[in-house]
Amino acid sequence: MFKRVAEPFRIKMVEPLRVTTRKEREKALIDAGYNPFLLKAEDVYIDLLTDSGTGAMSDYQWAGLMLGDESYAGSKNYFHLQNAVEDIFGYPYCVPTHQGRGAEKVLFPCLIKKKGQFVLGNMHFDTTKAHIELNGGRAVNLVTEKAFDTTTPYDWKGNFDLEKLEAFIKEHGVESIAFILITVTCNSSGGQPVSMENIRGVSGIARKYGIRVFMDAARFAENAYFIKKREKGYENKSIKEIVREMFSYAEGFTMSAKKDAIVNIGGLIAIKEDEELFTAVKTNLIPNEGFVTYGGLAGRDMECLARGLQEGIKEEYLEYRISQVAYLGARLIEGGVPIQQPTGGHAVFVDAKKMLPHIPYYQFPAQVLVNELYLESGVRAVEIGSFLLGRDPDTHEQLESPLELMRLTIPRRVYTNDHMDVVADALIAIKDKAFTLKGLEFTYEPPVLRHFTARLRPVQG
Ligand SMILES: *Cc1c(COP(=O)(O)O)cnc(C)c1O
Repeated sequence: MFKRVAEPFRIKMVEPLRVTTRKEREKALIDAGYNPFLLKAEDVYIDLLTDSGTGAMSDYQWAGLMLGDESYAGSKNYFHLQNAVEDIFGYPYCVPTHQGRGAEKVLFPCLIKKKGQFVLGNMHFDTTKAHIELNGGRAVNLVTEKAFDTTTPYDWKGNFDLEKLEAFIKEHGVESIAFILITVTCNSSGGQPVSMENIRGVSGIARKYGIRVFMDAARFAENAYFIKKREKGYENKSIKEIVREMFSYAEGFTMSAKKDAIVNIGGLIAIKEDEELFTAVKTNLIPNEGFVTYGGLAGRDMECLARGLQEGIKEEYLEYRISQVAYLGARLIEGGVPIQQPTGGHAVFVDAKKMLPHIPYYQFPAQVLVNELYLESGVRAVEIGSFLLGRDPDTHEQLESPLELMRLTIPRRVYTNDHMDVVADALIAIKDKAFTLKGLEFTYEPPVLRHFTARLRPVQG
């Protein structure tokens, strides 16, 4: 039996949830064109669309909101933020941004010097890939093959394949590479962690060839927690000590603070020692995000962020957080629902290819499952598969994703373990009638980032 970890907080304020009838949900889904992105949030009971900006701030963070210093320049909240970044990561230089993609937009042009240069990653996040490409770069994923075998557990499915990394550098030459970006945890492979040994390995290869290393740090604390729990030699180190070591192998980071820093909006760029790079970042920040000491955030937002960074690395919080995700995973495995194993940091990924083998990739099996989960229980999940992947830009053929996943993304400190039971029970009920579900086809398909606004219907006939 899985041992639950109780929430390390008590609840001071509540937000009522609306429970709908199946009939209401059927109508809502038709109105939304079978695309849950187009549902009204009010029609959702438990919302597992994303863990981005959906966390619950603490009373200490809310109190910080009242202490906003809204000076255009030199806000005291900026200095609190800078102190938190230096304390946790050991990086003295930082600027806020409005969110993660703002940080990417500002930093990447400082690093991609020539059109066509590669940015090597374990697996780039979608907005990260977009900003690499907008700056003329090319995004390359070099994650371990083990990440694609969902049923065989492996502790470090976010790791770089170091052989592939070195082979790529040798084949294409150092000049063709702008930088290496390590995403911790690796969102796209299932919130899977990168080991310290692997980070060290990437840094060693990078040093040998003189290539710069940066971190995509959205889920830095969850990654550090996995290192503490799974990697030999780290069991007695504090989360902060582990974070410090992880970031000692990089030159800087971009961060979406809407994840592990537990704020509803915000981002960061931080740099370890390259003052020239920091000057370039500040210069680029001002026209894009705002002046150096606010970067697109209100003073009060920076205060919440400074406080959230410290709360996000508390071990009792991380233990509860990761074990809530693991609990949902354990319930699903026990109920015979196929998932990516082991569970990662922020979500459980259900393998829709295994659950709906009769639906081909071009009829979007994971999207079918997302819709059925909503109809069954009012729970909103999200598709990570061929529907998200889209078409070949040259031939316009629908691409086939190697994995067809439904992501159940768990907001931080928002839902209780009883909510996890509602989700698990609904999916286990769906499993037995999965063979009756029908694939989907487009009634409207936008040309770019189609998954946000496309409209669908069940295949006819
Ligand atoms: C969320 C995220 C981003 C983008 O951040 P936003 O705050 O959504 O703009 C970049 N990288 C990773 C790994 C993320 O999870």
